[in-house]
Amino acid sequence: MAYPELGERLAAVRAAIDGAIARGGHQQRVAVVAVTKTHGPDAVRAAWAAGLHDVGENRVQEALQKMADVDVPVRWHLIGHLQRNKVRQLDGFALVHSMDSARLADALHQEGVRRQRPIDVLLQVNASGETSKGGYAPSEVRPEAERLTTMPGVVVRGVMTMAPLDADERVLRATFAGAREARTALVETGHPATELSMGMSNDYVVAVEEGATMVRLGTLLFGDRG
Ligand SMILES: *Cc1c(COP(=O)(O)O)cnc(C)c1O
Repeated sequence: MAYPELGERLAAVRAAIDGAIARGGHQQRVAVVAVTKTHGPDAVRAAWAAGLHDVGENRVQEALQKMADVDVPVRWHLIGHLQRNKVRQLDGFALVHSMDSARLADALHQEGVRRQRPIDVLLQVNASGETSKGGYAPSEVRPEAERLTTMPGVVVRGVMTMAPLDADERVLRATFAGAREARTALVETGHPATELSMGMSNDYVVAVEEGATMVRLGTLLFGDRG
């Protein structure tokens, strides 16, 4: 069997999440998105067998290949940067976490209208302010939220963010709190923004303490990508 340790690893993750929910006091439910990028279709099948029904991929092409290779009905999440010329390939995805610019928002909206089914998206916020990171600056969120109310081709379900690698806890908390505030701005503008996608293998416990509703875990579940 591939990934024989997955069940045990997942049990430890779920226990850690329960503890973090209790400490954080946000009383949210947390979905684990199993990040299978660079792993083969076996990782998706193993995820499903272990009870993980949400799978994350960061490249459209790699995800489409795996969708064709597996027959387990997981929900597919696109978590990596999306090029505007790929919006026609999103049919198989349940949620796009990485709407990271106004131009991409325009393209997603147009595609949602064209296909006559809105695209569920998260607004990616660069809450840490690193120049190397994509996403909306925190100050751009409210005006963009206003603009998105006129764009029925997308449904804005919440916010996604990535914290700096190896940040200390204070920076992590500030980053995640910034994403939480961005979600509040979306809600106040009228969007059904219930989700906060934040937290990866190295920082998911703090993310859940700060209110994450989706954690995106690769290494911790499947081992090193090599
Ligand atoms: C790869 C990736 C993850 C998972 O990272 P791990 O550290 O392996 O858990 C989460 N989110 C995004 C956007 C990624 O690209």
